[in-house]
Amino acid sequence: MLTNIRIVLVQTYHPGNIGASARAMKTMGLTDLVLVNPRCFPDSEASRLAAGAEDVVDGARVVKTLQDAVSDCVQVVGASARLRSLPLPHFDEPEAMARELVANAADNPVALVFGRERFGLTNDEIRCCSHQVSIPANPDYGILNLSQAVQVLAYETFKAWRQRPESDYRPARPAADRQPTREQLDHFHAHLSRVMQASGFLTQPHARTEAQLQALFSRAQPSRKELSLLRGLLSSLEESRDGN
Ligand code: SAH
Repeated sequence: MLTNIRIVLVQTYHPGNIGASARAMKTMGLTDLVLVNPRCFPDSEASRLAAGAEDVVDGARVVKTLQDAVSDCVQVVGASARLRSLPLPHFDEPEAMARELVANAADNPVALVFGRERFGLTNDEIRCCSHQVSIPANPDYGILNLSQAVQVLAYETFKAWRQRPESDYRPARPAADRQPTREQLDHFHAHLSRVMQASGFLTQPHARTEAQLQALFSRAQPSRKELSLLRGLLSSLEESRDGN
């Protein structure tokens, strides 16, 4: 189950933080590390600070965008010290986040996403997430070092996994009942945008409206079956328009 829990580091500046994050992961049984466009990798500093977790560093996959890192995930939780304006579901308690993450990881990959040392995650990157989480900390000094934030959330995840309820041992759910992957949701939102423009509801691409609708569907957590129902509805609206 822990193999389905991925740690994603976005554009890490200091390679030492990659090594220290790998070490934090390994102590908590996590091994799937994905690096989005790191400044400097591979690097001897990353291996040095991994201190015994070089296997996690060596196994890390490097990708170009956050979308590439999480397209197969059903839940993507962005870690952020600051509240942003995006109305995504937000966990104030890492413990509650970890329980949900571990339950979702029973059937599918899920991800915890960490931002850059200097300026965290951009709004576009937060839009790739389904949820946000903050680690409660000193209101006057609440930003943790990147690898320490990884350690705290990896620990919460490990704890939730150890304490997971019996019901998590159930047989895998049929695919139609599971939550859609980010890629399936992206296709749905692209379809919705096409229909909104073709119908004249939007006269040009409107990022804010689209972001609000993305957040709405994130909160609703439709199953794959429900999402394909919505896709069918959109297709029939398109066809009835084409017929007129
Ligand atoms: N200066 C950046 C923070 C960088 S810290 C900013 O203001 O956004 C690097 C990363 O560690 C953050 O992007 C976030 O993913 C994680 N992090 C640090 N402190 C955190 C906290 N209190 N809660 C959740 N994530 C945190």
